[in-house]
Amino acid sequence: MSKTPSFDKDRDYIGFATLPEQVHRKSVKRGFEFTLMVVGESGLGKSTLINSLFLGDLYKNRQMPNVEERIEKTTKVEKKTMDIEERGVRLRLTVVDTPGFGDAINCEDSWRVCTQYIDEQFRQYFTDESGLNRRNIQDNRVHCCLYFVPPWGHSLRQMDLDLIRRLHRKVNIVLVIGKADCLNKQEVRKLKERILQDLEDNHIQLYQFPECDSDEDDDFKQQDRELKASIPFAVVGSNTILEVAGKKVRGRQYPWGVVNVEDPEHSDFIKLRTFLISTHMQDLKDTTQDVHYENFRAQCISQISQHALRERGKLKRDSISSTNGFDAAITETDRLLLQKDEEIRRMQDMLTQMQEKLKQTHLMEMKKNDSVIDV
Ligand code: GDP
Repeated sequence: MSKTPSFDKDRDYIGFATLPEQVHRKSVKRGFEFTLMVVGESGLGKSTLINSLFLGDLYKNRQMPNVEERIEKTTKVEKKTMDIEERGVRLRLTVVDTPGFGDAINCEDSWRVCTQYIDEQFRQYFTDESGLNRRNIQDNRVHCCLYFVPPWGHSLRQMDLDLIRRLHRKVNIVLVIGKADCLNKQEVRKLKERILQDLEDNHIQLYQFPECDSDEDDDFKQQDRELKASIPFAVVGSNTILEVAGKKVRGRQYPWGVVNVEDPEHSDFIKLRTFLISTHMQDLKDTTQDVHYENFRAQCISQISQHALRERGKLKRDSISSTNGFDAAITETDRLLLQKDEEIRRMQDMLTQMQEKLKQTHLMEMKKNDSVIDV
């Protein structure tokens, strides 16, 4: 029930209604960070799509490796950052590209490079968080991974499944069918169905859309339903501006006509852009923090506590051998032992709490999925 301004306005007004504006001002001042990882074989239109999505030219100096280099090269991570601003809101976008992946010739280590990169960013964040200057931590964690599937297969390849399986518990994966203008409508629909079936058969869970709040307006709910129904997004990218019926459009000119990248009848490009930038960027960041990073953190703390346990065992052995078991006085070793016990107890408490929290998050995710299926 909102109170309308009245003669007793000053008396009733406490002031916390401005809290959202305060948060807004602070976040705008600080700016936003978002890291997107792009995975898929070369030539699938990854760089073109990224440039189309963010209206940039991240890859203008790019040199394509020749065949020999492609045979030699294992997957190498390439990181590009650009600062973009829209209506006073600053976004630092980092795109992590894995150019050599799936070049059919040598893709053995592809998954290792991707998972290592993701883990390294988590580790860095974990170290920064435990350090002294926690206020200015740069968040380089990967918030979303756009995984490109080729349009010419019948479904996911074994190599896709292997990589996705290794990544899906570390990062929010969003599947994208690249160069979708190679397929007609029916083929797109069939490929999407097969991909979803493959994921289900292999118990792979990609990024789950949060449920739409019931108090959202009908247009938003409709948009949300359409986004969910479009997964995996079948996209077409282009950096060429063409003129169609007097209007400038981003498109691909073919002898028989123009593919308008932004036309929803031609591709899911606009849906992908809406999802990634306008509606779900914050949720991708939250899921990274609350689910993937928490998982990583729990593993780290468990490893540290195991290490402390081992050290404690060693101290205990040293203490027994040095006192021969007779000296009851509190020695330096005993003091250290007590300290270690306290440290281990603290870590185990923390771990139990984290595991409980993760269990709750997992249960909530499952409920969310059930309700998505119900819809
Ligand atoms: P990447 O190696 O995956 O980054 O692929 P590029 O973005 O460099 O694209 C490789 C080639 O495919 C270029 O000639 C692009 O013009 C073309 N290309 C990019 N996107 C599309 C698309 O959506 N459809 C078609 N048919 N070609 C595309």
